[in-house]
Amino acid sequence: MAGTAGTPRVAVVTGAAQGIGAGVAARLAADGMTVAALDLDEASAQATADAVIAAGGSALSIGADVADPEAVAAAFERVAAEAGPPTVLVNNAGIIRDNVLQRMSLDDWEQVMAVHLRGSFLTSQAALPHMREAGFGRIVNLSSTSALGNRGQANYSAAKAGLQGFTKTLAIELGRYGVTVNAVAPGFIHTAMTEATAARIGVDFDDLVRQASATIPVGRVGRPEDIAHAVSFLASEGAGFVSGQVLYVAGGPKD
Ligand code: NAP
Repeated sequence: MAGTAGTPRVAVVTGAAQGIGAGVAARLAADGMTVAALDLDEASAQATADAVIAAGGSALSIGADVADPEAVAAAFERVAAEAGPPTVLVNNAGIIRDNVLQRMSLDDWEQVMAVHLRGSFLTSQAALPHMREAGFGRIVNLSSTSALGNRGQANYSAAKAGLQGFTKTLAIELGRYGVTVNAVAPGFIHTAMTEATAARIGVDFDDLVRQASATIPVGRVGRPEDIAHAVSFLASEGAGFVSGQVLYVAGGPKD
């Protein structure tokens, strides 16, 4: 059981329809949590929920845009009513709109800020009353090694570095409520997002994986399960003294 009193914790995972979010949803469900798989497209999120249920877990799906305050408020009300108070939140929804500065549109900048920063702000605010009421909460934000700088990603790296500051500040503010806040910063993970990157730069995906693997100390790119394992730890009952940290999960050291 994921809850201290035998009640399963309820986890909201955003961007859970595919990739890392789907991996995190599966893992938290295997850990004993009830998972609310939230994504833009409810039907895609339902596929994640169905997979969790088929594996013996408990899940529901929610269609919502994390950047839309009304949609986020409605989503958390629905989770609380149908599954119980959401006291675990994984802010995983993400997009890339890559381009070098001179070719990056204002819309590309604002969309990336909206999903990562505005989205994480809105979901954290919506979850907080439930966490305070429970005297327990775990927030895990998905940052990235791109926070350290990455050509073509001024918007994304700013958002992912911003999430690190957001994480540390919430950790300071919310510790008194039993809420820990941490970030996981993945390196290269094989998902639709990195496939899109390969397409953008005109490199065959397998070649990109080979090139990336050659630079990664453990000699391979990551899988959603690698990130899910780190999130699982940070979301666990026992991780209550770990807060405000940024855990790079990149197959080697990062600054
Ligand atoms: P992904 O496969 O593209 O999945 C992201 C999911 O988020 C998609 O289902 C997407 O829906 C959803 N989403 C996008 N905007 C949303 C919104 N406004 N509201 C709700 N859901 C939304 O990406 P991923 O590779 O699994 O990445 C997951 C997270 O890890 C992201 O925050 C990403 O920045 C971060 N990350 C990834 C890597 C990597 O190498 N893959 C590395 C570092 C960090 P649509 O498909 O409909 O847009």
